[in-house]
Amino acid sequence: MPYTVAVRELCEFTAKQGDLDLRFTPAPTAQEGIAGHALVYERRGPGYRRELTLSGEFGDLRVRGRADGFDPERQRIEEIKTFRGSLDRQRPTHRQLHWAQAKVYAWLLCQAENLSDIEVALVYLDLGSQEETLLTERCTAAELQSHFEALCERFLAWAVLELEHRERRDAALLALRFPFGDFRGGQRALAEAVYRAAATGRCLLAQAPTGIGKTMGTIFPLLKAAPGQRLDKVFFLAAKTSGRQTALDAIERLAPAAPLRVLELVARDKACEHPHRACNGESCPLAKGFYDRLPDARSAALRVGQDLDTDPCREPGVALTRDAVREVALAHGVCPYYLSQELVRWADVVVGDYNYYFDHGALLHALTQVNQWRVGLLVDEAHNLVERGRKMYSATLSPERLFQARHSSGASASPLVRKALDKVRRSWRAIDKAQVEPYAAYEFFPESLLSALQHGIGVVAEHLAAHPDDADDALLDFHFEAMHVTRAVESFGPHSLVDVQKPEGFSAKPGPSVLCIRNIVPAPFLRPRLAAAQTSTLFSATLQPQGFHADLLGLPENHVSVEVPSPFDAGQLQVHVASHISTRYQHRRASLQPITELIAAQYGRAPGNYLAFLSSYDYLEQVSTQLAERHPEVPQWRQSRRMSEGEQRQFLDRFTEDGRGVGFAVLGGAFAEGVDLPGRRLIGAFLSTLGLPQVNAVNEQIRARMEKLFGAGYDYTYLYPGLQKVVQAAGRVIRTTEDRGVVHLIDDRFARADVQRLLPAWWDQGHRPQ
Ligand code: SF4
Repeated sequence: MPYTVAVRELCEFTAKQGDLDLRFTPAPTAQEGIAGHALVYERRGPGYRRELTLSGEFGDLRVRGRADGFDPERQRIEEIKTFRGSLDRQRPTHRQLHWAQAKVYAWLLCQAENLSDIEVALVYLDLGSQEETLLTERCTAAELQSHFEALCERFLAWAVLELEHRERRDAALLALRFPFGDFRGGQRALAEAVYRAAATGRCLLAQAPTGIGKTMGTIFPLLKAAPGQRLDKVFFLAAKTSGRQTALDAIERLAPAAPLRVLELVARDKACEHPHRACNGESCPLAKGFYDRLPDARSAALRVGQDLDTDPCREPGVALTRDAVREVALAHGVCPYYLSQELVRWADVVVGDYNYYFDHGALLHALTQVNQWRVGLLVDEAHNLVERGRKMYSATLSPERLFQARHSSGASASPLVRKALDKVRRSWRAIDKAQVEPYAAYEFFPESLLSALQHGIGVVAEHLAAHPDDADDALLDFHFEAMHVTRAVESFGPHSLVDVQKPEGFSAKPGPSVLCIRNIVPAPFLRPRLAAAQTSTLFSATLQPQGFHADLLGLPENHVSVEVPSPFDAGQLQVHVASHISTRYQHRRASLQPITELIAAQYGRAPGNYLAFLSSYDYLEQVSTQLAERHPEVPQWRQSRRMSEGEQRQFLDRFTEDGRGVGFAVLGGAFAEGVDLPGRRLIGAFLSTLGLPQVNAVNEQIRARMEKLFGAGYDYTYLYPGLQKVVQAAGRVIRTTEDRGVVHLIDDRFARADVQRLLPAWWDQGHRPQ
């Protein structure tokens, strides 16, 4: 079986040398790039051939890609690049890479069309002046062939090892056995659904209760199905660090049976060794000579934990955790963060945050596209993807950024920049003036502000390109924010709304408004990402109702859903509804005493560890203070705003097997999901809220849009997200089939039929109004 590689990948792997250099270069946007290519094409003659798909082979290696254009009259192949600023400032590594690509395409064309020689050209189009700079070199086919073969030979050494590794990996995965002897209750049903979805190339939405081992129940069947589906990689995507760790632990259990290369991706701020430096060779020692040292670091990384004398036929697995990558990176003097990004190409399973696949320009998605990988996705705790997706595809323009940019050194030095920023400020002011309400939503992004922003982006980019050594963070921040906003405008649709909000207390110019393109339905952005995977499974304990998630997450028409029955029974959990209490805002004061009495009475009947969830820190303070005053005999501890990781650990450490007391926490916060307190570590929970999002101007806009799009404004905006949080939090109580506990649902609305329908079916017999 040949190993296929894209031209760009082949060149990046073999031709990159020197420093890692991520200094800002005002790269054209995708649209500017497309427009630039179109302009060059327009200037060419009628016989000009655009976008030629080319491929060629060398040994077991198949190289493919698309050359920008060929001028048959001049017999010239062209690689077109757009840029801003001065071409003299282009980094040598970039130029080398461009030549390498152009020459590979040139050889593929010579071979396909039997040409004995060809002119190879780099066409650099200056987006400012629209002038072309042409760099050409006449090459014979023989020269190009030897260039191509030299690159392929370098790559092939890796490709052969990779092919051998894949053969061993796939053989081991076919024979893989479940590592725990038998499946837990419900785990088999989940595993079978994941396997079937993978085997038929479908997307699966799986609701499965906590405590059945969902992580192993999804990873194992997907890996087992991988050889049959010729999957190149599995991406395990989690919303939280705890989810990543659970996945790494599960894969470790499989490691003795399969030579898997497992890579953990962590955020730059967690992996960076020099947080106060910039990512370039002049500033950071780990960026200096990065590409020169990369091959050795890469080889060492793929041998992590392996004995040098290991029999190559019995290849063990490689766990490239954050610590392991760091150790290798530092031993070779390269940056751990960027080393881990390079290692994605050679990993079988990548474990990382959602944003590595779903965000704009996400690394894993981009590599999947470029390399045409066949990937299987596992999306852990997928109910979080709605909110996370909304954040990824929203963009905000804040007055502080413009203010700081206007007062930056760059703006002081350049009248053109000042003028452009003032133009943005004037357009913004006009919107502020016209809007009397503190909040207003608009059908479209204001045209005049958009054109001022586009102009501002161009001028700032030109300035930054001309002064690359003047690090002007304020100007850069504004530039990125404005780019993000204009990109959101380009993809604007019914999935988003434009709103202008005037927060209290900000008096800086140009005006106090914050302008936001607020994504509320991430489906149109997530759908193509899911479609790019061969198979995907989105799983969680709380995906009720499934239609809501299918609508908002953009699941394909032919997706399948499964609801795995709970292995727990009603006898394990007493569920009480306190229908004599209202936790509505206007009834909060009156609710304090009955809630504290209820908590104290439960604690008195069955002393042990409890979690009490409230809707806000203020409410939490009021209830816990009243409990302390009226029932000082009940030990208690509280969640506070902005707790550090250490403080969070201390909060949870109080839930010991023989501990007693009530931990107060905020619903939807750090202790409401992903917390595992089995047995006597947690015997009950009080839910003094339905978790409904606050009724405010923004949410009312969302409600109106949800009504228009799905005919379910209230449910999609308030009820479903709220109840999901309640069920997640209550799910902390019963973690195993041995656990026993109690849940108090404190609010009269919990007795309503539409609310009860959203509670787990296995609770049913226990709902007892008090
Ligand atoms: S160590 Fe930090 S500053 Fe240096 S290259 Fe890596 S991420 Fe950039």
